[in-house]
Amino acid sequence: MHRRVVAVTGCLGFMGSHFVRACLARGWKVWGIDKMTYAARPGVLEELSRVAGHDDFHFTKADILEMQHLFEVDLLVNFAAETHVDNSIMDPANFVRTNVDGVQNLLELVRGKNNYEMPTFVQISTDEVYGDAVGAPRTEDDPLRPSNPYSASKAAADMLILGWHRTFDVPYKIVRPSNNYGVGQYPEKLIPKAVKYLGLGKPVPIHGDGSTSRTWLHVEDFVAGLMKVIDDGAENAIYNLPGAHEAKNLEVVRAIVDAFFDGAPPRPFEELVKTHYVRIGEDVRYAMSNARVARLGWKPVRVFDDELRKLVRHFRENFVW
Ligand code: NAD
Repeated sequence: MHRRVVAVTGCLGFMGSHFVRACLARGWKVWGIDKMTYAARPGVLEELSRVAGHDDFHFTKADILEMQHLFEVDLLVNFAAETHVDNSIMDPANFVRTNVDGVQNLLELVRGKNNYEMPTFVQISTDEVYGDAVGAPRTEDDPLRPSNPYSASKAAADMLILGWHRTFDVPYKIVRPSNNYGVGQYPEKLIPKAVKYLGLGKPVPIHGDGSTSRTWLHVEDFVAGLMKVIDDGAENAIYNLPGAHEAKNLEVVRAIVDAFFDGAPPRPFEELVKTHYVRIGEDVRYAMSNARVARLGWKPVRVFDDELRKLVRHFRENFVW
């Protein structure tokens, strides 16, 4: 495996920071870029700078929409995004700005290079671009039918990439992971949020009756899948990265409550949660086919129930603002 030079946008967020650690562990050089929104993890910048070898990690605080220069890199891996669906319902323009216009600016920076210097544009898309999956699992060739401003902005970005490839020859790889979980996730997302609320003695808010289901993918499994696609995936191709554990949100919160109170909750479950918060347009279920990425030899290996117990303990002991 040869040594690579990689630009990683959104490097201080949840998934981006895990990916950077994996790149550094491979001896790659990483140029990290992040605007440092509320979702950037405090302490990560200091940690990455400390663990990286001399000159291996270079950081620029920048908005992807305003960047005007790309160093010469082999890959541009774009994690930078506004990521929380509820926020996208309150303020869609901010999502279009970063997730669509920001991607367009990055594509333009790649296009501005000589052909032989164009890095591969690796986009972290999402299973949400397919919208509700009530029938067969979605394949990479299925149409995109996003249901909310977040998923619409992510779908739009995927479309821009296809257009910039066909017209300007920008090389790309798009991955579509399902719901990630793990250390470093901001507590607006289900698992860290539930633990935070339980710790504060507040009922855990749940959308609807909790019957919507998600497919969970541990962030380390995701990183392994992304590396597989980077190493062995076809150029100019899309890869679904589905987790292996599908569960209704209510079941997940039940497991969190159980782990939080070590199997002995002080009150009945119904008193520890609050259902029927409305998320307009909420998708009932996502489901993706793993056939394409399975041919590369990747599948998730982490066991959800085990990882969840460890994670609940972690979030219980580490308060996040
Ligand atoms: P996150 O919200 O934890 O972090 C996003 C990072 O991007 C933050 O550090 C933030 O400061 C940075 N950022 C935001 N706007 C920026 C801008 N304009 N310029 C530069 N940096 C900016 O996100 P995450 O959960 O790690 O998700 C990473 C990517 O993976 C996103 O593109 C998201 O759409 C996608 N994704 C996430 C999940 C999930 O379950 N978390 C699932 C599938 C896909």
